[in-house]
Amino acid sequence: MEYKIANQSFYNDPSHYQGCNMISGICPFCGQSSGFKINGQKSGDTVPLKCDNCDKNVVWDFYKDLVLPVARLSSLKNIPVDIDNYYQEAIDCIAALSPNGAATLFRKLIHQVGIHYNVAKINDNTSLMGIVEKLESEGHINKKLVEALRRVKDLGNDGAHVNENEPDMDQIYLVKSLIDSFLQATVLQDSNIEKYDKSKEIKK
Ligand SMILES: [Zn+2]
Repeated sequence: MEYKIANQSFYNDPSHYQGCNMISGICPFCGQSSGFKINGQKSGDTVPLKCDNCDKNVVWDFYKDLVLPVARLSSLKNIPVDIDNYYQEAIDCIAALSPNGAATLFRKLIHQVGIHYNVAKINDNTSLMGIVEKLESEGHINKKLVEALRRVKDLGNDGAHVNENEPDMDQIYLVKSLIDSFLQATVLQDSNIEKYDKSKEIKK
């Protein structure tokens, strides 16, 4: 979650900013894009801030450029429940700043979409890319999405195994956006086409 810092010189004298917006971004409590004002004394690398919109307090770690609690990312709606379980759990992991958890859940989500389209089963022996290729050959996704999912799989492997590549939060935000494109082009598109067709039937 990106926050815009009003003025870098804050690091030298936070008291100077009493009454001014220190940062702006999404509030973890009200979910609105808001300004945040200093609301107390700096302590170590953190300073208490108050949301302009809902008046709730957050803590800004200006060393890590992080607002706590972490705002929950916006999520797609109307996803089939079996898929949505993994999707929502991944978003919970992101809010808890757990990149390994989110990376492995996004990987599982791809498998679950494969089950949804009958190209995979539970405990499938087919590799995840094998499932992705079946999704492509049966016309559910195009080549660009295959490449997107290859990256989600790659980070999911890093999330599940101890190796030299530990997933970081910036990678997770990218992968979340790839997964959103995948879900929009598949299950959400199906559901919107179905809704449109029903709307035509009603008019008849
Ligand atoms: Zn707020």
